[in-house]
Amino acid sequence: MQAEPEHDVVVIGSGAGGGMAAYVLTKAGVKVLMLEAGRNYDPLTETPMLHTNHQAPLRGAGTKDKVFGYYDATVDGGWEVPGEPYSRGEGSEFYWYRSRMLGGRTNHWARNSFRMGPYDFKPRSRDGLGVDWPVTYEDIAPYYDKTEALVGVYGRNDGLENHPNSGPGVLHDPPKARIPELLIQAAATDMGIPCVPARRAVMTRDLDQRKACYYASACGRGCAIGAAFQTTTSFLPWARATGNLTITTDAMVHEIEMGEDGKAKGVWYIEKKSGEHKFVPARIVILAASAGETARIMLNSKNAQAPDGVGNSSGQVGRNLMDTVGASMGARIPAFENRPRYNEDGAMGIHMYIPFWLYPEQAAGKLDFPRGYHYEMGGGFSQPDMGVGGYGDMAGGYGAKLKEEARRYYGSYVWFAQRGEMIPNEHCYAEIDPELKDNYGIPVLKFHYKHTEHELNQVAHFQKTTLELIDRMGGEVPTNVPSPKDAIAPGGWIIHEVGTARMGDDPGSSVTNEFGQSWDVDNLFLMDGAIFASKAHKNPTLTIMALAWRNTDYLVEQMQQGAL
Ligand SMILES: Cc1cc2nc3c(=O)[nH]c(=O)nc-3n(C[C@H](O)[C@H](O)[C@H](O)COP(=O)(O)OP(=O)(O)OC[C@H]3O[C@@H](n4cnc5c(N)ncnc54)[C@H](O)[C@@H]3O)c2cc1C
Ligand code: SF4
Repeated sequence: MQAEPEHDVVVIGSGAGGGMAAYVLTKAGVKVLMLEAGRNYDPLTETPMLHTNHQAPLRGAGTKDKVFGYYDATVDGGWEVPGEPYSRGEGSEFYWYRSRMLGGRTNHWARNSFRMGPYDFKPRSRDGLGVDWPVTYEDIAPYYDKTEALVGVYGRNDGLENHPNSGPGVLHDPPKARIPELLIQAAATDMGIPCVPARRAVMTRDLDQRKACYYASACGRGCAIGAAFQTTTSFLPWARATGNLTITTDAMVHEIEMGEDGKAKGVWYIEKKSGEHKFVPARIVILAASAGETARIMLNSKNAQAPDGVGNSSGQVGRNLMDTVGASMGARIPAFENRPRYNEDGAMGIHMYIPFWLYPEQAAGKLDFPRGYHYEMGGGFSQPDMGVGGYGDMAGGYGAKLKEEARRYYGSYVWFAQRGEMIPNEHCYAEIDPELKDNYGIPVLKFHYKHTEHELNQVAHFQKTTLELIDRMGGEVPTNVPSPKDAIAPGGWIIHEVGTARMGDDPGSSVTNEFGQSWDVDNLFLMDGAIFASKAHKNPTLTIMALAWRNTDYLVEQMQQGAL
């Protein structure tokens, strides 16, 4: 009989954090078993890159099962996952997006990849709110460079305050700005606001076996040629190629088992197809199941030594839940009506963005909100689906008039999305629901969420600035702007949830040290957004990967030295 291969490390989750950890470990010769709750997924055979919306039911429009459209890569996921409910505290609005598939949410994220800057790692030192990270930008900068170079990120070094440059030669050339982006840039420049090439984990030159973007398909469907980063076309096949990675899919982990020596002995999971409970012994356990699920597994792992959950002597597991502050506004730009048609697809997502630009005003006390926000925005001739981006302006009806109006308005709309920093507060946390269980019998999370004046004032600033931008573009300035309270996206809606097991310097107020290593259980590491100490306005995934790389280097070093 063939002996069971020995696995030094069990990694839970195959998304951004788990994928990076498995890649670095297996390259270092460490045997890894990855447990993934979702099904196997092969982007090479399953990605409908060149299908047209016309071929899909409802012209490809989103439905409850496929919120981002018929062809979106999400498998068995969304705001609601069948058989895997969650609950909310009274008065709390929180939505939890999950993807039950190999590669997790990396298969269909928007790939916006902005580095955190020096201010973002020391926010409390600047304004007295929240906590500082136990690391500095300088600690993470080399890992940002390495991650961007490995993953492939387009963008430009603009040398802006708190928006650090990448190392020489790291970034791929950004795609050209589209016409709507150029007009936004002109209006922004008039107002003294920078508008520069965005940074996205999309390659514009060939890299290893992956091909450069060919500007013809929607990245949210997944990218079979590997130009848009996802772990299923990169970290996972690369790690498998070392011969050191075993992946078990449909494996729903629910508990970490502890030994009497205070170390993790291994993990329990449910084999989803058979319903069987299985135990895997492990020398090291890495949790990378995403911020919510990592906290859930820790809180559900109770024993005599850890009655409140494994690694939770600080009481901080599940606390400090944060998401990006989000609001949006759109407008019709008459100058864009009946534009000559041409291919404006580009790399599908944003080519340009507006980084936060008001640090001097903030330092001078001229703003009524802390921290910052950036704009993601665009417009143009995207593939038509159920509408042309503004049915509201069309007279409707049938025949020649309808066609004439559809042609007139197609491509004449712009949209602006705010992506801002949220300050952690005591009302935002996740706990185990005392009653509700999922279909596997595992207790589920109950989310509590409340914004404060910090976030609402930031939304008001975004609204005021956007109205002026639209006005300067000669656009139809919206007159029905909702109040910030109504405009702000509910918790989880921007899908950047982080912070549920934050890192820190003090075991009394944080869950892990600066390397994502549990203060309480030294062979337990966290490698996803759970360890974020704050939620800068910069989208989190690049930082999740850079931290996971740094943390894994530390882990390998410890293993080599025999400390673990
Ligand atoms: C539509 C969309 C757009 C986005 N756009 C951006 C963007 O532009 N920029 C950005 O930075 N971020 C973006 N994000 C967020 C980004 O996808 C996440 O930050 C990132 O994927 C988090 O990585 P992760 O490894 O923590 O989690 P995930 O990628 O979610 O991976 C976690 C994996 O763990 C598995 N898992 C969960 N529970 C268990 C369990 N109990 N047992 C075993 N396995 C388990 C899951 O099935 C999943 O495969 C977007 C997300 C979505 C959905
Ligand atoms: S637009 Fe480019 S990066 Fe996006 S899916 Fe198509 S080829 Fe891939």
